[in-house]
Order: sequence, then structure tokens, then C-alpha cells
Amino acid sequence: MSEPYDLAIVGAGPAGMAAATTAAELGLRTVVLDEQEAPGGQIYRSIERVARDHPQRLAMLGEDYAAGLALVRAFRACSVDYRPGSTVWQVEQPLGILYSAHGESHRLRARRILIATGAMERPMPLAGWTLPGVMTAGAAQILLKTVGAVPQGRVVLVGCGPLLLLFAWQLLQANVRVSALVDTSTPGARRRAARHLPTALMAPGYVGKGLRYIRVLREAGIAMLDNFEHVQLNGSERVEEVVVKRSGATERLAADVVLLHQGLVPNANLGWALRCEHEWNESQRCFIPRVDSWGLASQAEIQFAGDCAGIVGARSAEHAGRLAALESAYRLERIDATARDAKARAPIAELRRHRRIRPLLEALYRPGDRYVAPEQDDVIVCRCEEANAGDIRRAVAHGCPGPNQMKAFIRCGMGPCQGRMCGLTVTELMAAARNVSPNEIGYYRIRPPIKPLALGELAALQLE
Ligand SMILES: Cc1cc2nc3c(=O)[nH]c(=O)nc-3n(C[C@H](O)[C@H](O)[C@H](O)COP(=O)(O)OP(=O)(O)OC[C@H]3O[C@@H](n4cnc5c(N)ncnc54)[C@H](O)[C@@H]3O)c2cc1C
Repeated sequence: MSEPYDLAIVGAGPAGMAAATTAAELGLRTVVLDEQEAPGGQIYRSIERVARDHPQRLAMLGEDYAAGLALVRAFRACSVDYRPGSTVWQVEQPLGILYSAHGESHRLRARRILIATGAMERPMPLAGWTLPGVMTAGAAQILLKTVGAVPQGRVVLVGCGPLLLLFAWQLLQANVRVSALVDTSTPGARRRAARHLPTALMAPGYVGKGLRYIRVLREAGIAMLDNFEHVQLNGSERVEEVVVKRSGATERLAADVVLLHQGLVPNANLGWALRCEHEWNESQRCFIPRVDSWGLASQAEIQFAGDCAGIVGARSAEHAGRLAALESAYRLERIDATARDAKARAPIAELRRHRRIRPLLEALYRPGDRYVAPEQDDVIVCRCEEANAGDIRRAVAHGCPGPNQMKAFIRCGMGPCQGRMCGLTVTELMAAARNVSPNEIGYYRIRPPIKPLALGELAALQLE
């Protein structure tokens, strides 16, 4: 078996790329695994191809997207072993990584592991969310970035969060006529967020950018609706309308495509599978791995950086990646504490600057109770096993104490997505039904493989 790597990084988004570049500068033997075919992560997805083959799309996707080229180029130029198209399905102790690449599984060993797996969209289980024609805004954005595909017909955006505004703006640049943006932020959110405005204004550029998107959307005549008691999607064969109810009145918006989005949550299944400690974060309304300021997890050889350690945004993710690599180099005795701290000064200052936007965003776009724990019993929660909100409430009434026991009652969380699509909804529904905090309910016990894997691949596992 070959010598272990000093550092294995899972994820080549801003956090993973910045960590890899720093680790290489410090002489760490580093491997980077990412399931995408090119570096960039979510925000800079396909950026090299877009810049090379479709440069006109750079302006359409916005200046924040184009800014990623420098980071990607620095990553390409650094001496790490980069393995694109590699899906990590297990991290084991002592540290080994099992991953699948082009139909074959492999194992490699490392002294330290940095999990930089980013974020995923928070599920938005509304009545009608499983109808054809409904998808998440993030999924639609992936199609725009990778192949330049845009939705056609009457497009309605439903939800809240900066990514929804950005994507509405990007669709406008791509000449897509968005019919309406149905804003599900909670009543009073703006008032609650207002007290964070002075801090947010000290973060570079974010407030101005958000206001610019809103102004452009308004000027383009996009209907922006808010303050409802109820939203649902109707249709027989596919989605046909978005129905909103407010102050006793019902409005119906005809729709061919509905794009849902209500913020991001950490993509932390690897950390759960490793039994790293997690805790409920009330302002982000999700579980977050317990880490220190260097990203060290409850197991000291594991680190997290970027959105998988709590949503921070791309620029903060990048600086968190640098800090994690510095700490790895220190733990591996390549630099001493004085050198680490000196090199950490700039990223710490940048991280502090960029993080000033978070309290405002978290107050403004905190998802409402009814959008994280559906009130109607017939709303599907676990799409793989087709368990609905009523099934979960009934299981609680029968004495089911937590999400893991729920698996035995109704199989939810046991399908191919391994609970990624329903985990938080199940926790929220159970917490509401039992009137306790989500922390008390906990989360699914995630077991490998964290991504679907063919049995033949497992049987033919190559050792490295
Ligand atoms: C769909 C989507 C679209 C987004 N678009 C934008 C945007 O346009 N603008 C913006 O400001 N923010 C966007 N965000 C937010 C964005 O995720 C962050 O701001 C930023 O990209 C976080 O950087 P990161 O390095 O932490 O994670 P990411 O950029 O998400 O990078 C994580 C990487 O880990 C890889 N990965 C995850 N799990 C595995 C695994 N098991 N095995 C191998 N590789 C794995 C992923 O392929 C990904 O490349 C988006 C988020 C999502 C979910």
C-alpha cells in the first residue's frame, strides 16, 4: 500500500481549492477529490469551460461568478493530486477514503482529512412540490451554468434567500421572462433584520448588490408577492398554477415551471457518517458540525471548511479553507504556531469582514415554520419512500421517539438519497409534534455508502 497523503480534501469548491493551494505552498502531499468533472464547486461550476467556450455567458452569470477564475487558475497551477469525477462514499478510521470514479471504487489513505463538501438547498416540501415542472432554483442554475439551458414558458420562483434573487437576476440576463417571485420570507423578517443592517453594511458589497438585484427585478416588471398564510402548487399531469392565500383572498398564478428555493444547509453527510459532533443552529435552522476557528471537528484529524461547516458564502469559504490548511500544516509539524498565526492573520481578517453579512441574511431569510414542517398531512416529505407529513405525525403519536426509529416505522430516509432530501424536514416535523427542540430530536444516523454505489463496484474495490 502506498504512503498516505498528508492531507485529503473532499470538495474542490472555493474552500477546497483555497485549502489545496495553501497546503501545496506549505509542502503538504495533498489529494483533492471532487465528484464534479472540473474545479469550482457550486458557485464557480463549469467556469473554465464557460470562460473558454462561451465567454458571453460570464456577464450573464455576474461578476461574482467571473471572479472565481483566478482561484481556479491558482488551484490548477498548484502541485496537488487532483482527482475530478471522484465521489467519496465513505471516510473510515484510521483515516481512509473510499471513492468511486468512472465506475470503479478505490481506497486511499491520508493523515488528515478536510471535508469541504459545501452546501445543498434546503428542501421545500409544499403541496405539489413533486409535480413535473417543479424543480429547485439551484438545479435550474446548474443547467444554466453547465449547458446554458433555461426554463421556458411561464416561470414562477417561490421561496426566499440571496440565491433566489441572484438566479432571478441571472434569468433576466439570459432573456428569460420570470412571471413572478413569490417571496416566502416570514412577516416581520425585514423589521427583525433591520437591526443587523449597520454590521451588514461593513461587509464588502453585499447589501448594495442585493438592493441592485431587487431594483432590476422590479424595473423588469416581475411581480413580487409576499406576506401569505399559504402557498401551494396545483396541476394534474404537471404543475399548472401557484396558489397563494393572504388575508382570506386567494390568488392564482399560471405557471409552466416553478423553481423552489429557501436557502442552503450544510452538505454534511460525511461528518455525520464519521460520528462527528453536530449541534442545532437556531439562526441557520439546521445542524452544523461542531468545529473550532481552524475548522477542527470533534475528532482532531478531521476538519471542515466552507459551507459544510455552516453557511458562510463563497468568499468566507475560501478564507476558511486557507485557515484549515494552515492548521493541518501545523498539526503535521510542517510549520510552528508562530508561522501559522502569522499566515492566518490576513484570512482571519477577511473572514471577519465577509461574515458581517450573515446576521442580516439569516434574520431576513429564516424560513418560516410552515415551509420547513408542512401543515397538510398529504405533503410528501421523503420522496424516495413516499412518506408524507401525516405518516410522520402518526408515527410520533404512536410513540416513535426519533428519526432513526422513524425508519423502522415508515422507511423514510432509507432510499437512495440517504435522507438528504427529508432529514431536516423529519427533524422539524417531529420537534413540532413533540413540542421539543430539534436538537433533542436529533438527526438520522448516516451510514456509508453516503452516495449510491453499485454492488459490483464494492466487490471489485481496488486497494491503493
Ligand atoms: C446549487 C447551488 C448553487 C449555488 N450557486 C451559487 C452562486 O451562484 N453564487 C453564490 O454566491 N453562491 C452559490 N451557492 C452557494 C455556494 O455553495 C457557496 O457560496 C460556495 O460555493 C461554498 O463553497 P464551498 O467550497 O464551501 O462549497 P462548494 O462550492 O459547494 O464545493 C463543494 C464541492 O464538494 C463536492 N462534493 C460534495 N460532496 C462530495 C462527495 N461526497 N464526494 C466528492 N465531492 C463532493 C461538490 O461537487 C463541490 O464541488 C450555491 C449553492 C448551491 C447548493
